[in-house]
Amino acid sequence: MSCILETLYIMTSSELQKKFTEFFEKRGHKVIPSASLVPENDRSVLFTTAGMQQFKRYYLFPDEAPAPRIVTIQRCLRTGDIDEVGDENHLTFFEMLGNFSFGYQARSNADETRTNADGPYFKKEAIKWAFEFLTKELEISANKISCAYFKGEDDIPADNESLGIIKKVTGFSDEKIKGSGKDETFWSLGTEGSPSGPTVEFYVDELEVWNLVFNEYVMRDGKYIESELKGVDTGMGLERLAVVMQGESDVYQTDLFAPIISKIEELSGKKYNIASCHSEFDSESLSDGIPKQVRDDNIRAFRIITDHIRAAIALISDGVIPANKDQGYILRRLIRRAIIKGKQIGIEKNFCAEFSDSDKVKRDLDAEETKFRKNIESGLKIIESQTEFSSKVLFDLYQTYGIPVEVTVEEANRLGRDISNRAIEQSSNLMREHQELSRSASAGKFKGGLADNKVETTRLHTAAHLLLAALRQVLGPQVQQKGSNITEERLRFDFNHPEKLTQEQLSEVEKIVNEKIKANLLVVMEEMSVEEAKKSGATGVFDDRYGEKVKVYSIDNFSREICGGPHVKNTGELGHFKIIKEESSSAGIRRIKAILE
Ligand code: ATP
Ligand code: MG
Repeated sequence: MSCILETLYIMTSSELQKKFTEFFEKRGHKVIPSASLVPENDRSVLFTTAGMQQFKRYYLFPDEAPAPRIVTIQRCLRTGDIDEVGDENHLTFFEMLGNFSFGYQARSNADETRTNADGPYFKKEAIKWAFEFLTKELEISANKISCAYFKGEDDIPADNESLGIIKKVTGFSDEKIKGSGKDETFWSLGTEGSPSGPTVEFYVDELEVWNLVFNEYVMRDGKYIESELKGVDTGMGLERLAVVMQGESDVYQTDLFAPIISKIEELSGKKYNIASCHSEFDSESLSDGIPKQVRDDNIRAFRIITDHIRAAIALISDGVIPANKDQGYILRRLIRRAIIKGKQIGIEKNFCAEFSDSDKVKRDLDAEETKFRKNIESGLKIIESQTEFSSKVLFDLYQTYGIPVEVTVEEANRLGRDISNRAIEQSSNLMREHQELSRSASAGKFKGGLADNKVETTRLHTAAHLLLAALRQVLGPQVQQKGSNITEERLRFDFNHPEKLTQEQLSEVEKIVNEKIKANLLVVMEEMSVEEAKKSGATGVFDDRYGEKVKVYSIDNFSREICGGPHVKNTGELGHFKIIKEESSSAGIRRIKAILE
């Protein structure tokens, strides 16, 4: 099946995983298992999209990390890449090989790496090891490798340090080292207080395989300020590495996907023919008589089915079940789109369950498929008969027939009909209203819990303001918020304080907060400039301070904070406040977990 047979010995993907882990383990890294696809204790995102996600706190609080050097193979899901699925190398579900370092301090490092082989490291080691892994461990010819680095943009300087290291380590000539801008080689969440920095990318035969992120800045007041604590975050796609090592032209021909592809061939009676392998014969129709358009559509269908089913299996294995919102809604759409694509290549019977060995996964997939197949024919007929696709039509097709909007759009397009972007957008508003589908599905959720508007989290947000004010009253005005994380169930609040709080202090804090709740105080919001807010004595918290104006929330004379909200109108809505835990978060930082009963 291989297009280009270059390597005599084909390395399997499990060998690649093993080699990667062992390589970094030998270099002082602690092996940590993959986190779940559904992040624990972090409701700000729907899915784990990168290896660093379970570690993101450690860049700011390295003392909390289980080790300064970590290696993982992280299962990732990127809904943002769903439109690219169908090309050679973008998947929704993939595995990311990554090595990480936390708490590197520039001044001391020269001695530190010499004396402490397990300590944090930075650009020099990360770039050297990446090149070494590719060329020595995997024996990829350096001729096939090239790099990119950050050449500077706006007020962020070029990463000349990395450029120098790349030159020294690889011996590459200038044309093999591309300088690029913020879009390609600078990583940032764009939120206040988050770590960020330039990246170095490694390519094999022009395919991006490995991205090394050097977190050396932290965002303060919208500017990138050099951070005292630096760190490394790298990610290499296992599937893409397998393409390279197995000499294939797309991920679907690697050992990771071959069994799924051959099963689909068996079920559909069609072959997975790769047009790109036969580019010299790539005329309108091949000798098999199939028109090029149909052939290309079939290849895309094979790829989408393969990717989506593999992703669905991974999600169900991590506890997600098909539903109308959040993770379950994404899962549902993946399964349904795979079924529609299956129809396109002639699979008319339940088939999703055939790809898994687990009874539970099989059961869930089969139940969802049976449910969907009941209405699929009527739904598709409506699409065929429709000439105008308003947002209402799109919405009804999902509500009544279970056809996800993107499937309708794709089917309509295949029939040569256009659907306006406006209708698509409006239909998703209708869906959102109807199914309480929070805005979580959009990337915004990555940016922190504040996007989450649920009643419980709103109450806990207000409780967090009361908590800070009470802590300042009991411990002193030097106390500041150092982080917070709010889920529907509880609030977690970090603040500076040198020692463990006594039982008396905790009871006092609790008592004050509950008094303020009982007093039914109004929560008042005013908008003003940052300057005015500071002058008025408001405390600042970690939130996005876009634009000139900020919101200041006041509760009587008791609390006054700059905050994006949302908050309750009256403290009386909060119920009873209870601290359930007080612990150390990192050096000089305490953490309180509290609930509203
Ligand atoms: P691309 O530009 O190709 O979309 P990216 O810049 O989004 O890649 P990163 O976010 O830097 O990629 O992720 C690190 C590595 O993970 C990439 O170098 C690649 O090997 C792999 N990767 C990223 N997205 C995907 C995907 N959708 N499918 C498979 N592998 C991926
Ligand atoms: Mg991408």
